[in-house]
Amino acid sequence: MMNNKKSQELYNKGLKHLVGAVNSPVRAFKSVGGNPLFMERAHGSKIYDVDGNEYIDLVLSYGPMILGHGNNKVIEAVQKQVCTGFTFGASTENEIILAEMVCNVFPGMDKVRFVNSGTEAIMSAIRLARAFTNKNHIIKFAGCYHGHSDALLVAAGSGLVTYSLPGSAGVPADAVKNTLIAEYNNIDSVKKHLTECNDIAAVFIEPIAGNMGVVLPTDAFIKELRKITKEAGILLVVDEVMTGFRSKFGGAQELLGIEADITCLGKVVGGGFPVGAYGARNEIMNMVSPLGDVYQAGTLSGNPVAMAAGIATLTELKAQNPYDKFNRQAEQLEKALLDAANENGIGLTVNHFGSMFNPFFSNKKITNFAEAQECNTEQFTKFFWGMIENGIYIPPSQFEAWFLCSVISDEEMERLIKGINNAMKLVG
Ligand SMILES: *Cc1c(COP(=O)(O)O)cnc(C)c1O
Repeated sequence: MMNNKKSQELYNKGLKHLVGAVNSPVRAFKSVGGNPLFMERAHGSKIYDVDGNEYIDLVLSYGPMILGHGNNKVIEAVQKQVCTGFTFGASTENEIILAEMVCNVFPGMDKVRFVNSGTEAIMSAIRLARAFTNKNHIIKFAGCYHGHSDALLVAAGSGLVTYSLPGSAGVPADAVKNTLIAEYNNIDSVKKHLTECNDIAAVFIEPIAGNMGVVLPTDAFIKELRKITKEAGILLVVDEVMTGFRSKFGGAQELLGIEADITCLGKVVGGGFPVGAYGARNEIMNMVSPLGDVYQAGTLSGNPVAMAAGIATLTELKAQNPYDKFNRQAEQLEKALLDAANENGIGLTVNHFGSMFNPFFSNKKITNFAEAQECNTEQFTKFFWGMIENGIYIPPSQFEAWFLCSVISDEEMERLIKGINNAMKLVG
């Protein structure tokens, strides 16, 4: 057994003044039992906990660290900016540079507004979509996560997909009464809302879903969704907070052959610092304050240090162009997972998009939230702890994507495959 004495001590200490000893519930290991690991440092593809255990990191802070930890160019840019000034409450050139980089690679994005998180980008996009269309309702898909703002925090788990039920205490029914739920990969579930309601401002979607585990849209579904929203004058808000810069330098939209009305970004775009963004064509973005009447502001928005990290990360990512490598390595790991499951008589499905992928403990194809919910989470829990024991850090939930960074070596790939084989033996 690995030693995690110090993590245990810190966890117990943390409980006193932090809620559950964490600042975000996904870190709490609740669904896999046991207590969270406390991390101390990270370098390249590795992360080290406070007890000195080394892991290959497939969590990567839930996505941002696509270059691995401590990339030299990013460190240099951040250090330089820190010495020049942390924040001014005024405009800086870095904001213009990052805006240009982002607008150049997302189709139909003329202007962008930087905020501090994915949640903030999405909640601003709701306001903007409502103002632009002069309508109130929004559609989201069961199993898609768009941050924790009231209007989109609707669980609608299996069997409840047609009802708008608040997914959290403290969200008044009024705050979600304009939120309609549709089923991923089921265009009829969207059409039904369009027939029944003529007050729909926008449809929100993860172009590749990553928050119910990785679920890909069918070509017909995503194209039809674009077509019917356009025809109805409803904005399509594509949430690329996770998928942005994931499978190519840019977003998922181009690969899928669709163009968003509003695109939301986060995670990679801030290179490990708190950055979110929403952008669209001029006609839409010009409605945002100070050009228009849609108010949205932030003391630290476009923070110079975060912008510097974002610029350096995107510049380095473009230069490295690791996307073929991502696909190759993800396919190798996919095969290793399936082979290991097969050898041990375990039902397993793997979904994969670029550098994000994950195994589902299920015999069936996973195409929506209801199917994802049917996975064997007890098997996942055994597998999770097996991976931890083998020095591989994966998200502590069946319903999270795993991520690859660009500095995983062949030797580390071997360690990963060996770890997968060992962990799968414990599932049974
Ligand atoms: C992570 C995520 C968010 C929320 O971003 P935060 O920075 O955690 O607020 C929104 N949408 C998607 C698709 C995400 O993966």
